[in-house]
Amino acid sequence: MKMFKIFLIVLLFSVLTPIVKGNSDTNRVVNYSFVPNVETYVRLGLKILHINAVNIVITNLDPNFKSSFEKGIDLEGYVSRKEGGYIIHVLKGLTKHELITIISHELIHIKQYETNELIVCPDAIIWQGRDLTALNEWDYESRPWEADAFNNEQVIRKQLKNLR
Ligand SMILES: [Zn+2]
Repeated sequence: MKMFKIFLIVLLFSVLTPIVKGNSDTNRVVNYSFVPNVETYVRLGLKILHINAVNIVITNLDPNFKSSFEKGIDLEGYVSRKEGGYIIHVLKGLTKHELITIISHELIHIKQYETNELIVCPDAIIWQGRDLTALNEWDYESRPWEADAFNNEQVIRKQLKNLR
């Protein structure tokens, strides 16, 4: 009888374990960039933001794209939405502080996309239900989704900094 109980407990545990694992992290994060361990920050950031079931590829930021970007902006990273997931482009050689800041910022953009707060189509930009297509010509930092990202990135940044 005692053996049977132990058997039951083991069986129950082996059934429950994959379910618990599946619930805690359903995101797929792959790092193809030169920046080591950056996926750890991305995974934790997604957890903090309660984002589940997204596919993210981290890749190097192309220096040519960096130099073609708007004047006066020192581009260290950006996120692009692709069918089935996101690509985070990150510059190599950043300090830990810069890296955490950029990852926190891009994760807020992913949150905006996931909640449909921000919808970017080839010919339209909708922010919080308002058509702001014409406003994309604004200064980078005046764009409301950027202001939102700068305001909210601190919440993740603080927690990522504590990570060893
Ligand atoms: Zn941004």
